[in-house]
Amino acid sequence: MKILSRSTLVWAILMSVVAGGTLAVIGDQATPYGPWPGIGTGVVVLLLTLRRPLRRWRVSRRPLGEGNRQWLNARIPLYQRLDADGRARFERDVQFVLDEYSFEGVQGVDASKNLQLAVAAGVACLLHGRPEWDLPGTTSFLFYPDRFDDDYFGGDYADYDGMAHEQGPTILTASSVEHSWDSPDDGDNVVLHELAHHFDFDNINADGVPSLVAPESAQAWQALVKNEIRKVRHGQSILRPYAAEAPSEFFAVATEVFFEQPNRMHDHHPDLFGALCAFYRIDPRTGEKPASSTSDVVVG
Ligand SMILES: [Zn+2]
Repeated sequence: MKILSRSTLVWAILMSVVAGGTLAVIGDQATPYGPWPGIGTGVVVLLLTLRRPLRRWRVSRRPLGEGNRQWLNARIPLYQRLDADGRARFERDVQFVLDEYSFEGVQGVDASKNLQLAVAAGVACLLHGRPEWDLPGTTSFLFYPDRFDDDYFGGDYADYDGMAHEQGPTILTASSVEHSWDSPDDGDNVVLHELAHHFDFDNINADGVPSLVAPESAQAWQALVKNEIRKVRHGQSILRPYAAEAPSEFFAVATEVFFEQPNRMHDHHPDLFGALCAFYRIDPRTGEKPASSTSDVVVG
């Protein structure tokens, strides 16, 4: 996650020059105040357009806190593998999420700092190899006490631990969030699962082709997914059966296993591992960029 992207800077300068410059010329020619009101307007527009980068800059200067750092170090394998610079950037991404995302507990659940850290750590994992990205979609998270059904109630048919929405909040049960990072190598991580769905929402019907996959390699991605889903259905995959429910679920489950059991995925599903290395531009076994990409999947 960047403090200031080039496109934001260009947009901010363009807006301030157009708005402020126009008023400055008019003011200079038609008013006794000269160009100064226009120049002032340009500065205000520039500051307003850059308010998020300015806020991120301020947040980046705050220390994460030793307690939060220890929490990450005890639970997040990717964080443990990073060098000092990588850890600093990971911590900064965590800070941005804690500052910018909204978290709310439902039915008496306390949206505790640890639950928020668990989500922030998940975002930081997914984006670490792609510092130019932000997570697509909404940034609102609700923590439920127990599993819920399609109508968001508990009971006999409640079997959801999490649910991501394109236009609404991401829902997670508190216990499953805690489990996600208390057992960070069992291939079961609802935080990574639901966050991964966000990469799929720019498409029609969340079709399992993340929107950031380049159009020219969408076919290669779909062929890979089709082949890997067949393996799941025939019991020849390390991914749990739920991955075969739909291509979108396959991508979410594969993301969980990619980050939690990277060595196992590399050994059993090298093509899938290579494609996810290319997508997330990180080798979670080392925390570094993949040495070279042999995957047909290209990310736009
Ligand atoms: Zn899912």
